[in-house]
Amino acid sequence: MALNNGCLKNNIITGDPFVDLGGLVLQSISERFPKKSEIEIVQFLIDVYIKKWNRNLYSVFLTTSKILNPSLKGKYEKSTKSYYQSIIQNKKIESCLDEGYCKTCGKQGLLFHNSRDFFPNSGSGKFVNFHHSHETGIFLCKECTLKLFFIPLGVVLLEGKNGFLHTQSNRLSNFWKHRIIDENLNKIDRNTSTGILRIPYTKSVNALFYLAEQIIMEVKDDEYSDYIQLIIFTNFGADPSCTIHQLPNPVFNFLNKVLRYHKFYWHRFINRFYHIKGAKWDAVNYKWFQEKKGEIIALKEDDYQNNSNQIYEKLLGNKSILRQLENAHKMHYQNQLEKFPIEITYHYIKEVLNMTKEQVELIARISDVIFELSKKEKNFKKYLFMFESAGKAYELRGALLKIIKANFQNGADEPVIRIKDYVDYLFPDGQYWGEIRDLLLIHLYEKYHDEGVNRSEIPEGEIEEAIVEEKHVNTL
Ligand SMILES: [Zn+2]
Repeated sequence: MALNNGCLKNNIITGDPFVDLGGLVLQSISERFPKKSEIEIVQFLIDVYIKKWNRNLYSVFLTTSKILNPSLKGKYEKSTKSYYQSIIQNKKIESCLDEGYCKTCGKQGLLFHNSRDFFPNSGSGKFVNFHHSHETGIFLCKECTLKLFFIPLGVVLLEGKNGFLHTQSNRLSNFWKHRIIDENLNKIDRNTSTGILRIPYTKSVNALFYLAEQIIMEVKDDEYSDYIQLIIFTNFGADPSCTIHQLPNPVFNFLNKVLRYHKFYWHRFINRFYHIKGAKWDAVNYKWFQEKKGEIIALKEDDYQNNSNQIYEKLLGNKSILRQLENAHKMHYQNQLEKFPIEITYHYIKEVLNMTKEQVELIARISDVIFELSKKEKNFKKYLFMFESAGKAYELRGALLKIIKANFQNGADEPVIRIKDYVDYLFPDGQYWGEIRDLLLIHLYEKYHDEGVNRSEIPEGEIEEAIVEEKHVNTL
């Protein structure tokens, strides 16, 4: 029986990451070899695992599984094939349940006993507490049981463990299928596959951003309704683990905007925030330098792409990156570089910080007043210093009050801000004061660029960090 008419017919998304990943691999192989029967597909997989990968599957399957069990030495192929033959034929084997509902897809009928042998990170042996009714394993229908055997071709090596993209969106699943599973199958065709696939990134957080970028470039869309989730797991012996890194939907949409329209500037901005021991950042040439054997050499991206990155950590940890953006605006201005695109900041405050248009306009208006006052008094440094050094909330309020007073003393018709706007838009409930200060300064530097203010008027160094625990930004 052809696979297309068998198991694949029931390739429904179950919501279980492991079963669905196996299903995706099964679908890919089935499409590549439409004439192969189910057992021929299993045989293909056994050949890959045993002959090409030398059974190096210990991070996915347990040593008690038929393909790895040392007591089956010399009989791995035969015993694995015979096990899956019974499953494909829906034949009763030891520990079967005659009748029941599959735990992952809900199908009624004969169910097969699955444990950590082939089902990563599930319960096994005495660990019945992993299962709601304290069964000795997870009981699955034949299709879901079979899919688990396909998992290794759907994962990549990350931090010495296995990683895969989990999503319930078809188009994102297709991306994974095309980029990873097809790549695996191509390597098998070329006889260059020797084990679980490697990607240029080994650090999972960086890999998540790399994959997000690949998706944005490949699966083009103005607005994504999905989020991306990278599951990192190992089912290895006594030390199984599972970590989930989720890229929230607002961050995904923010990346979509900046990568589509400002990719060059975004990459340059990100590079500045890698942690590189003993290296120095050149803010004019946008390069990292390190002294090696008495020689100063520029580092290449490959040298540090697996180091931790402050911006990635902040974006995943729901922390604001506005101060870092603000410093980018200032450094571009100070170093006479072209203007850092204000659009990156706008996309960030719209998509991630969820600031209202009224709030942004109000902050821009206050910035204009600060600029006009500085111009009139021929002293840009004085006001700029007041805001840049405001490291605490009361210092920012104090600086604002000075502006309000100076504006009145200078004979302005309109106040800087009315009390309703102050309460509703400048500091509404839940608004982090540091973000208001950062945005004010970003507008000011934009203005300095546009008006060509003398750079000697600008205080040296980076802007003071706001000293209050940063609020969690609204990601809803
Ligand atoms: Zn099922």
